Amino acid sequence: RSSKGHMVTKLSYLWYEMGTQHDVMMTAGSTHGSHMPGKILIVEDEQAIRDMVSLALRNAGYECLEAEDTLQAQAAILNHTPDLVLLDWMLPGVSGVDYARQLRREKLTQHLPVIMLTARTEEHDKVKGLETGADDYITKPFSTRELLARIKALLRRSAPQTADTSVDISGLQL
Ligand code: CA
Repeated sequence: RSSKGHMVTKLSYLWYEMGTQHDVMMTAGSTHGSHMPGKILIVEDEQAIRDMVSLALRNAGYECLEAEDTLQAQAAILNHTPDLVLLDWMLPGVSGVDYARQLRREKLTQHLPVIMLTARTEEHDKVKGLETGADDYITKPFSTRELLARIKALLRRSAPQTADTSVDISGLQL
């Protein structure tokens, strides 16, 4: 925990909003007592960003899986069936863009919610990102508040498709 705390300090420049850590702590407190909100797979080759995102998600009560590339991502999906994938655009080997298309082609993962992480801000690239079949995208640098809000919204939207294995969804109500 202390090493990750150090990482947070080192990488605070990544986040637009000051006081983000406070927001994360508030979110973690609000989830106390409820069931786990979900299992998130982070596919990102930069360890510092991976650690940062992972910490924010864990603080918010999510279970996290981490992958450095699409090979590790594929293994994590097959072995741990995540509820949502955060997929970096630029990865070594198979890119996040190509991997998103691959996920949509395969029956096992065609409904798996995907949020692309990208450093590109041009509108053309955003549209292109959505054409990969990704459900949403988020542009770096992003705040943990925005990331958590998008994850929560996407999990809520996709919940009916995966509700067959979980009958009790009353906890999703506000
Ligand atoms: Ca990258």
